[in-house]
Amino acid sequence: MKITKKIFNDLAIYMICFGVLIGSVFPFFCIILGVPKEIVLTPVYFISCILAGIILGSVNIFLARKTVGSRIKQLSQKMKHVENILINKKNGIRGEECTPDNCLIKFDSEDELGESADSFNSLILTLTELLETHNEIQLFSEMLTSHLELEMLSHEALNHLVKNTNSNGGAILIEKSGELIVEAIDAIKDGAALENNERILKTMKTLERQLIKFPDEVKMDGILVDFHPKELLIEPIVYKNILLGVIILVSTSSFSSSALNKLSIFSQEISLAFRNAITHNQMQLLAALDALTGLYNRRFGALRIQEEFSRAIRANTPLSILIFDIDHFKNVNDTYGHIVGDKVLVSIAKIALASIREGDVLVRYGGEEFLCVLPGANQSDANIIAERIRIIVMNNIVKHAEQDIRVTISIGVASYPHNNIADSDQLIKLADDAMYVAKNTGRNRTVLY
Ligand code: GH3
Ligand code: MG
Ligand code: MG
Repeated sequence: MKITKKIFNDLAIYMICFGVLIGSVFPFFCIILGVPKEIVLTPVYFISCILAGIILGSVNIFLARKTVGSRIKQLSQKMKHVENILINKKNGIRGEECTPDNCLIKFDSEDELGESADSFNSLILTLTELLETHNEIQLFSEMLTSHLELEMLSHEALNHLVKNTNSNGGAILIEKSGELIVEAIDAIKDGAALENNERILKTMKTLERQLIKFPDEVKMDGILVDFHPKELLIEPIVYKNILLGVIILVSTSSFSSSALNKLSIFSQEISLAFRNAITHNQMQLLAALDALTGLYNRRFGALRIQEEFSRAIRANTPLSILIFDIDHFKNVNDTYGHIVGDKVLVSIAKIALASIREGDVLVRYGGEEFLCVLPGANQSDANIIAERIRIIVMNNIVKHAEQDIRVTISIGVASYPHNNIADSDQLIKLADDAMYVAKNTGRNRTVLY
């Protein structure tokens, strides 16, 4: 159906024509009703009847315009008003919100106009809901693209999800080497229980959403308050059929269908963002690690030494550095080949790594040169650690085709504040000098600067 602005013109033509028709036929009715022919069959009588018909038609038009027209105008004005609100909302301009009071039409008639108003109201409700979802998704995407760190991303994503699905709490678990690890948690105390929960682990296999309804007596262990959950939702985060993690949401009421729909869209957005964050993490790690030994590389090591040195000055705690270099390593390469040389390097990295504490930093500083940062260790602590490494290396045997390969290392030690230095570069320089003294005085020994 096409609504044209001619609708009232058309109506006017119909009504006036109808008036003329009735006016023309009316005299004949008069004759049937007994009015004398001499009176009826005169031009004056005919013209009067036709004029009366035209006047009636015109009055009808006027009344129709007044009653129907004004209501249609109201309807169109309301539509225009709602359109403006929606356009502003779409363009992100803050202003009037669409509420039942200002966007919906109040009506009490059950005729076609009432029906139109009712349809209009449902249309507006659907539209505003769509627009709200669209805006929420846009905000959510903006948040996701502004974070690359998995932990931060998980926290922000969880906040949004809890808010946008009217949940009372939740968690995001990330898959790491076949296990689910809690990365973000909100209003639930027992994260470990989530990691080992059978239903949640099931999602890892099925990659399907689960909605669990609780009986009334179940209580959730919350951080601030213990609450009675009604529903728990487990939503897998899947990227190209691979599970990256799981979203858990808990609500004290039932999840609405619109919340569930939103969650489907959100989890797709999350999967892409998580994929990027995981890749970013891996790239960062790769850039910081030495490919052969898996230790930190020189570039990353230098940054860590600077950090630890600043911390030592701030906290007024000691800091020591060991630099060690394999003795006559060229001989190993020349005798057994480079690949066997690599094997020796890896075994020394393992020994050193096993000899230091958590928080100490081991760096492959050069080809067969290692650097070890020992925060909190003074000169004598550092000497003990250096000697421990040196002796284990000396007694270590690397097997190669019936051959036992043994190597020794020479170690230089420098310590802050024992050695009076101004920055971490100077500390490295002193440890390096001490190491050369060890080389020049017989090798396989530790020298303290
Ligand atoms: P010293 O340190 O006791 O003075 O003698 P050295 O024979 O170890 O002398 P130098 O430090 O000059 O030689 C280092 C050797 O380490 C030379 C090089 O072939 C070897 N090297 C360096 N990086 C690697 C590596 O990644 N793999 C292997 N297999 N060898 C390496
Ligand atoms: Mg060397
Ligand atoms: Mg050497």
